[in-house]
Amino acid sequence: MHKYIIMGAQGCGKGTQAELLVEAFDLVHISVGDIFRWHISNRTKLGARVRRAVKDGELVPDETVEEIVRRRLEEHDWNYGFVLDGFPRNRPQAEFFLESYDADAVINIEVPADVVLRRLLSRRLCSQCGLDYNLIYHRPVNAGVCDVCGGELIQRADDTEKAIHARLTDFYEKTRPILDLFREKRLMIDVDGTQPQDVVHAAIRQQLEEPRRSGVDN
Ligand SMILES: [Zn+2]
Repeated sequence: MHKYIIMGAQGCGKGTQAELLVEAFDLVHISVGDIFRWHISNRTKLGARVRRAVKDGELVPDETVEEIVRRRLEEHDWNYGFVLDGFPRNRPQAEFFLESYDADAVINIEVPADVVLRRLLSRRLCSQCGLDYNLIYHRPVNAGVCDVCGGELIQRADDTEKAIHARLTDFYEKTRPILDLFREKRLMIDVDGTQPQDVVHAAIRQQLEEPRRSGVDN
């Protein structure tokens, strides 16, 4: 069984790395952000709570996030394990997780703040077909125009510099400190996320295979 949590600032590439792990080990990708979006678009009670919090510019309350994670993990629809992405985001959520579940590893994708900021500001989206672009590493052939459908490329509504700064500040103040908690439990794997995707993936695999977590005391 592989039970992993993947962490890192927005723009560190953790979604891609989660998918690569899913393919490599036949895991289930549990993205809390995707579950939020599902509840919102299906107009569930939980979705209404999430939407209200987001609309007021607040974070989704811990109890709501924990309920979503608990329900999702109770489904037990994986044979070989899961990659949990987007949770935990702060200390109470991390403590909830450690009390209720166990993880085999917490993968931290480390990318300096100025690099993630630049990556996030470079994101573009086709206004017609929804294809994602990035002006740093996935540039359209003609500036501002979608390669596939010719649609105009725009920034996401929530990718303003102010919104990105707010999300990154939140990560560095509330999420990053919980890495120490996992480090104490010898669960941490740190990788340099500035490298190409396949190099990052190989570095994660290599560290997952090391017997490091069995540690000196057992
Ligand atoms: Zn397009």
